[in-house]
Amino acid sequence: MAGLNKKTVIKYFAGIRVKLTVIILCVTLIPLGLLGYWSYNTQKEIITREVTANHIELSNTIARGIYENLEFTRRLLNSIGELKVVQSLNPEITEDYFNALTRHFSFFKLMYLIDSARKIVASTDPSVALPEDWLFSKAVKRSYQGSLSEVRTSLDGPPTMTLESVIRSPNMGINGVLISEVNLSSIKELLKNALKNSKSQGLVFDEVGAVIARSDENAGISDVAFSEVVDSDITNLKTINGESYLLTAVSLKKFDFYQAPNWTIVLQVPERIAFAAAYKFRERMVSMFGLTALISIIIAILLARGFTVPIGKLVEGASNISHGNFDKEMKPVSADEIGELTQIFDEMRINIKNTKADLDDKIKQLSTLYEVGKAVTSELNFVKLQNMILDIVAKVLKAEKGSLMLIDDAEKTLTIGVAIGLSDEITRDTRLEVGDSVAGWVVKNRKFLFVKNVEEDEEFLNIKKQNVKAGTLMCAPLISKDKIMGALNVSKSIPGSFSDNDFELFVNLANQVAIAIDNARLYRYAVTDEMTKLYNHRYFQQRLDEELLRADRYEDHISLLILDVDHFKHFNDTYGHPEGDRVLKTVARLIEKSIREIDIAARYGGEEFVVICPEKSGTGALVPAERIRKAIEGFDFRINGVHVPITVSVGAACYPDNATTKAELIKKSDTALYYSKENGRNRSTLYNPIMVEHEE
Ligand code: GH3
Ligand code: MG
Ligand code: MG
Repeated sequence: MAGLNKKTVIKYFAGIRVKLTVIILCVTLIPLGLLGYWSYNTQKEIITREVTANHIELSNTIARGIYENLEFTRRLLNSIGELKVVQSLNPEITEDYFNALTRHFSFFKLMYLIDSARKIVASTDPSVALPEDWLFSKAVKRSYQGSLSEVRTSLDGPPTMTLESVIRSPNMGINGVLISEVNLSSIKELLKNALKNSKSQGLVFDEVGAVIARSDENAGISDVAFSEVVDSDITNLKTINGESYLLTAVSLKKFDFYQAPNWTIVLQVPERIAFAAAYKFRERMVSMFGLTALISIIIAILLARGFTVPIGKLVEGASNISHGNFDKEMKPVSADEIGELTQIFDEMRINIKNTKADLDDKIKQLSTLYEVGKAVTSELNFVKLQNMILDIVAKVLKAEKGSLMLIDDAEKTLTIGVAIGLSDEITRDTRLEVGDSVAGWVVKNRKFLFVKNVEEDEEFLNIKKQNVKAGTLMCAPLISKDKIMGALNVSKSIPGSFSDNDFELFVNLANQVAIAIDNARLYRYAVTDEMTKLYNHRYFQQRLDEELLRADRYEDHISLLILDVDHFKHFNDTYGHPEGDRVLKTVARLIEKSIREIDIAARYGGEEFVVICPEKSGTGALVPAERIRKAIEGFDFRINGVHVPITVSVGAACYPDNATTKAELIKKSDTALYYSKENGRNRSTLYNPIMVEHEE
């Protein structure tokens, strides 16, 4: 029990298995036990009744036998007394006769005749003597009543008794008495014979309780009060020598015999023999009880299994569900109500699982959208934004290929902004007219396209397309505030590998992306100089503030370059303003190409440009300045096929070495630029405090 805790034990005993076992045991064993007990007792009662009836019947037979024996002997004796020779007390003939009688009737043990003077006249035994206390009066009385003397029992010989017949003279006087000692062993034979086929023992008692005969030498003597027996039979359970006996005591007096002696016939049978059948029945009953109990327990266990196994499975399944494990299928193990319940539970599990999956999907979508929204709205750099968008979309949807296509300002041509899984050539060279191919169709129709299998989709097969092989694809128009900006494409090579949930997410993502792109475009317009596509003056000012703060925070340096095209007024005057604009655009591209990614180039105004170079100080600032200057100097500007040299002058100043404020920094750069102009143009100069400040 050490391994079992109290709760487990209580759960076990409160469980169906134990309850069912107890119920089945009660249902089977209680009736069986009661029936057995009742049958056993009834059987004992019947046996008792039968044994008693049998005993009474046997007693009857025995009583009649005893009576007839005694009566015969008495009559025989009386008839002897009537013989003349005996009446005349003739000793010789009488003795002869006596001897003949004792020879022929074995129950006559001894016979003798006395005269009125108590003298023995004839005898079968010469040594016989009249008992001292013998009285004529008693003999007369006994003879008259026909009663018998007391039974004499000796230890060695058989029980005997004395029978007397008074011999009367013709004048009714007493001539003598014929006395005979009768051997009572015949009664024993009689008993034995009567009980030959019976298991009972028989005993015959005289009126004082002395045993006259017993059928079995071992038959014990009970404490029956014989005086009671005269009036009524006794049938009882008596203990003899420590053993219980079923006993019947019947008085001879009860029978309607003339001159019957006051003897009692006792028939007894040990209970263990009398009730053997009942005991056997009880034994069988106990075995049956045990067997029934065993079978009941087995049935209970089997039945309980029939309940507990399916219920156990049900409990296990429910527990799985309650722990959020919805994958384990619940199979009904029985076809009954529990099985039905299990089935319903399993349907519930599937429903919960699907609902949960839907919810999980929704949560995933929402969190993805949130993340995407957060990311794309915080990124205003248009190129970075496009890359970020496509990265996220491809990752979330596990797309193998993807592209973000942008429409030109005239809303006519689509080009690829960024792509994943496409070659550089395709990315660079793809140009689609609105209405052409998949993206063109989507942009033209402003409709989302979800093709589960490109080889089977009817709508898709009708679209004129390029470069689409087997698989599945999704394409979204990017529309914000009713303005179309392009299309978002994703695809996979295995048909059907995008789900409806994926498409839903894709649609939501595309809407978000469109807004982000729109925002970035607007922002770009706001900070871009339209002609040169460099940042405008306002953005430059704002950006320089930020960079100076950053430099302060990290104790870093910043260099500022200011560029001015040399003799540009003259150029304009010579070639015209439009040519001048072309030059400015080219100069802007050359500046962009000559600087690092972290440098910020802007149009300061007119033909003047600025470059913020973070982390540059001292003569280091002249490195980008020179690179730009040389790039422009070396570029082959042509007008009408004739080379026209264009140069710029550059001024540089460093923060915080040359200036402590933004205005000062700009001023110092301008001073350096002035210095370059003053000293022959087409050159770069780093600010030096000895320079004379340039006044506008
Ligand atoms: P330098 O700077 O070498 O001293 O001589 P400059 O001729 O360039 O003198 P300045 O900087 O004073 O002249 C600026 C000229 O640039 C005036 C104007 O004609 C020209 N310019 C300014 N903005 C534009 C523009 O947007 N387009 C064209 N085509 N020309 C412009
Ligand atoms: Mg100028
Ligand atoms: Mg100039």
